[in-house]
Amino acid sequence: MKPSLAIASREGKIVPSSDFQLSFLSKIQRIFNEGEFAATYKFALILGIADLCIDKTADCNESVFISFQELGGKFIAYYWQQSQPFARTGGEEQVLLQNHGRQAAIVSSIRVFREKYPRETINTAQHNRAFSGLLASVIRTIKEQPVKYIQNLAGGRDPFIFEEHKDGLLLRDGVAFCLRRFHPLVTQMARAQWVNHIRGIALNTRILGPSDDLESFLFSASRQALGLLREGLMDLRSKCFYCDGSLVRGGDVDHFIPFSLYPRDMVPNFVLAHASCNRSKSNKLASGEHLERWLDFSEQHRVDLAQISQIAGIRFEERGSLSVALWAHQNASSAGDVAWQEKQNFVQVLERDINLIQGRISSLSKASYP
Ligand SMILES: [Zn+2]
Repeated sequence: MKPSLAIASREGKIVPSSDFQLSFLSKIQRIFNEGEFAATYKFALILGIADLCIDKTADCNESVFISFQELGGKFIAYYWQQSQPFARTGGEEQVLLQNHGRQAAIVSSIRVFREKYPRETINTAQHNRAFSGLLASVIRTIKEQPVKYIQNLAGGRDPFIFEEHKDGLLLRDGVAFCLRRFHPLVTQMARAQWVNHIRGIALNTRILGPSDDLESFLFSASRQALGLLREGLMDLRSKCFYCDGSLVRGGDVDHFIPFSLYPRDMVPNFVLAHASCNRSKSNKLASGEHLERWLDFSEQHRVDLAQISQIAGIRFEERGSLSVALWAHQNASSAGDVAWQEKQNFVQVLERDINLIQGRISSLSKASYP
């Protein structure tokens, strides 16, 4: 039986029923647990679709179309980081296998590109002439593999996520809603299984050794990158972003939108803060007052921030980080969650906060497309 989509009365928007949402989640879980996947692509595909649902700030009422170009860009970003050598044994650099048997084709293509253009970073690569060739080969693999097989569950084909078109994927009604709503959960599941998959590949055992930091290697900026980021931010402003106190000993690099909500590193989302302010804010959103300052800061320093992202090799996604901020505030507001002001002081997430971010997004779109 197919769970129905209930039509909620609020502004005539389609809101999936709770049955639909639960069934969606359990099917996603089955995709991760079942299926004879040799490579890690299925995790990348679900993550890519989920991330794009946030990036596109789509109104969930409309059908959401995800192009292969967009999806290819996500795959390259994820595997760019993962195609770096994990260790060096016997003087040889060791890249983790992402496939039982031979290395996954996408990782190999990225490796070839990076060896040919060793100076390119994830930020600059797309301006390289050879990038379109890389993108085309990644897209080919995405179409031939995860897109083709991901909706095959034990017991048959169940195209519950998308319908494939010539240029991309049309998401089923209700899917974007669920992926936005459960983004942290879906990301967590996908990453945990991705890590397991890599650990489960026999040839990786020797590369991994006793090391325990596989997850952060796969998904977070390296310590070295964070060090460069901290230096760059210190040059811009050597004060705590939240309390304005001076940062004598460098301070913490804090994710303005908490990492626990959206675990991806993007430069505009980093601010410097006292370790104590960082701890106190913990995994909460910051209040509207901080939000306004953050929006101003990232607008004022966009050129500097872009430069810092180059140096640190962390993605600069101005629009992306705003979309994430918008999504996080919308979710918090509809869940009645509070935001952190200072110490033990919390305030409501307001409609005004959401409007501020929306205003910034629309002024950015105007600036980019005159
Ligand atoms: Zn502080």
